[in-house]
Amino acid sequence: MKDHFSLTGVTVAMTPMARFEEYLQSRGKRVTQQRRTILDQVFSHHEHFDADDLLEELASRKLGDRKVSRPTVYRTLGELVDSGLLRKMSLNNRSVYEHDYGYPQHDHLYCEECKQLIEFQSKELSSICETVAKQQRFRAKGHRLIITGVCSNCNKARQRPTHRLEMI
Ligand SMILES: [Zn+2]
Ligand SMILES: [Zn+2]
Repeated sequence: MKDHFSLTGVTVAMTPMARFEEYLQSRGKRVTQQRRTILDQVFSHHEHFDADDLLEELASRKLGDRKVSRPTVYRTLGELVDSGLLRKMSLNNRSVYEHDYGYPQHDHLYCEECKQLIEFQSKELSSICETVAKQQRFRAKGHRLIITGVCSNCNKARQRPTHRLEMI
C-alpha cells in the first residue's frame, strides 16, 4: 500500500518518546526496551500501517535477541493510541494506525481498488463539524471521515479501452 502524503508535521512541545514515558509513568508502567524499539520504528516516518506491517518492519531491523513479539506489538499499539500519539482507523475490519501527535488533523479518501489512502484537509468540513457540535452542545474532540471509492488512477485504468483483438 503506497499512500499519498502531502501534509507536513506540526510543532509539538515534547518528543514522542518523552510523551510516551510520561504516559507510562502515570499508569505505573515501565519504559521497556521493547516499547522503546516499537516507538522508534513507528515514529521513524509517517505511514498508514497495521500491526502486521509493523511486525514486518521490526523483523527487518534485525533486533537480535531484542525481538519484539506479536502480543507486545498489539499491546504497545494500544498504549500509543491511548496516550494520544497514534490515531486508529478501521478499514474493512482492519485496524490501521498513523501519527496523531505532531501531525495535523486531516481526513482520508480510501481507494477500494488499489487500497491507497489519500490524505486531505478541508476548512469547510471542520467548520461543519464545529457548527453541528455547537448545535448539540457537544464538546467535540475530533472527527474521522473516510470517503471510500475509486481513485483517479484506478478510474483511468478502468476507462482504458480493452480491444485486445484489434491491437493484434
Ligand atoms: Zn486506486
Ligand atoms: Zn492519514
